[in-house]
Amino acid sequence: MIDATHQPSRRSWVASANGHADFPIQNLPFGVFSPHGARPRGGVAIGDAILDLEAAIPHLARPAQAVAEAASGTALNPLLAQGAAERRALRAALADLLDAAAPPRPELLHRAADCTLHLPARIGDYTDFFAGIHHANNTGRQFRPDNPLLPNYKYVPVAYHGRASSVVASGAPVRRPNGQRKPAAETVPTFGPSRNLDYELELGIWIGPGNKLGEPIPIAEAGAHVGGFCLLNDWSARDIQGWEYQPLGPFLGKNFCTTISPWIVTPEALAPFRIAQPPRPEGDPAPLAYLWDAADQRGGGLDIDLEVLLLTPGLREQGLVAHRLTRSSARHLYWTVAQMVAHHTGGGCNLQPGDLFGSGTISAPSADGFGSLLEITNGGRQPLALESGETRRFLEDGDEIILRGWCEAPGAARIGFGECRGVVGPAPPV
Ligand code: CA
Repeated sequence: MIDATHQPSRRSWVASANGHADFPIQNLPFGVFSPHGARPRGGVAIGDAILDLEAAIPHLARPAQAVAEAASGTALNPLLAQGAAERRALRAALADLLDAAAPPRPELLHRAADCTLHLPARIGDYTDFFAGIHHANNTGRQFRPDNPLLPNYKYVPVAYHGRASSVVASGAPVRRPNGQRKPAAETVPTFGPSRNLDYELELGIWIGPGNKLGEPIPIAEAGAHVGGFCLLNDWSARDIQGWEYQPLGPFLGKNFCTTISPWIVTPEALAPFRIAQPPRPEGDPAPLAYLWDAADQRGGGLDIDLEVLLLTPGLREQGLVAHRLTRSSARHLYWTVAQMVAHHTGGGCNLQPGDLFGSGTISAPSADGFGSLLEITNGGRQPLALESGETRRFLEDGDEIILRGWCEAPGAARIGFGECRGVVGPAPPV
């Protein structure tokens, strides 16, 4: 649904917002921030500034004031519980408040550089999908060269229940995990720091209103239960994962940390960047009826450009730019977000406002678009050479991974997600 808030010609009295790569007036993502030393509160990113929502309430159009209140606390779960109509009302009011034609109110702003960003919501449950088919193929091929995709993949939006307590906001330190490692040549495992620490490029999906236990969300209604999107790095210890994952799936190889970008980009902001879900390759089965919705197939895909950068101690010391590891797009997902929601709830499981999904690693088909080092270095067998003279099989202590995402389309203003960063620190002593 495109409306006046999307007009590419629209400008703001916040000068830095005009032409801003991530946060022009057409985006208006929500987050939780602390101005220098003060208490956390809800805000909206606009250019290089953050609008304090509580302070803005008296200046907003009346129908939006209650929604703004839901978005002004220390966690945005009450905002995520709102429906699209309420979010749209707030978005329209915020666009009017910040519009170049409105009276400037710089007293409502904080310089983003002076603020700390927090997790935007209390995450009740976190589920990690596996919907990037090129990643599924690439990783499957390492274990089963002749049969990379298991027979369920094209029928089931495969996922596992992850760990919500260790999801952190961009910038939080990432501690290398200890765990059981058993290289193929060894007969028994040892406990110690992961030697094969990796990243995964994923899209994060914030759940909106949700459903009651025992009452599945039909796919045609799934969109109404998505409250927003972010970037997500599913840090993965491949050596721990490889030994522990059968038969019940990932555990310590994944549960030590997941980093997300702190801004919730709304479905409304992404409306101009919806695309048809790419048709399935010839010979693939059609989704079962509960996963099929014609409208979702027509407009349930997402045209989000994605990239991953690596900044090592060597690159930093020599003043070199970060090395681009991955250039991909959310259009490479095999399952739509609506299909994930319909499947997750298909057995009656309840989703709640502030639950988080990871899409699964979004690799592009070509090697410059692989979304993990496991794929880029072929399981560590083909190390990556960096401009600093360093090489990498997997991540070393001091390495920083930076995820970026943005959207561009004809007739629309470019918007972005901001960054999702994390520096790897040493494992705790064993
Ligand atoms: Ca993952």
